[in-house]
Amino acid sequence: MERTLAIIKPDSVKKNVIGKIINRIEAEGFRIVEMRLVRLGRDEAGAFYTVHRNRGFFEDLVAFMSSGGAVVLLLERENAIAHWRAVMGATDPAKAAPGTLRREFGFSIERNAVHGSDARETAETEIGFFFK
Ligand code: ADP
Ligand code: MG
Repeated sequence: MERTLAIIKPDSVKKNVIGKIINRIEAEGFRIVEMRLVRLGRDEAGAFYTVHRNRGFFEDLVAFMSSGGAVVLLLERENAIAHWRAVMGATDPAKAAPGTLRREFGFSIERNAVHGSDARETAETEIGFFFK
């Protein structure tokens, strides 16, 4: 069993699709170990995405991620990290495959509906960020 950190981003919360995304999480065989609705502050959003702090899109990303509620989930499944990335689809919804969450619910490369950890080490760090 492997664990990963998922976030239902503020664009999805505003669109009232938390339930649809959680349905998909359950249908894909994940166990929801922990889950919380949060409102990230700018500092928190910046700390979470610190790896991107020198990118041109960083300030916009921080503003977006702190613009409203978000749902953070600790998910467990076999091969959880790669499987959740596959269910999410590519970062840019326009390039995400049909049937992926980002293709279905994403609006732009920034407002792309969901987050998922990308590797074992980042999953551990990101889980620790929200769930002590
Ligand atoms: P992913 O979320 O697929 O792992 P990244 O780690 O590269 O993608 O980027 C983190 C988040 O930053 C993305 O999910 C998206 O919200 C935002 N982002 C990434 N690239 C861009 C970009 N070129 N312009 C605006 N926002 C971006
Ligand atoms: Mg990433």
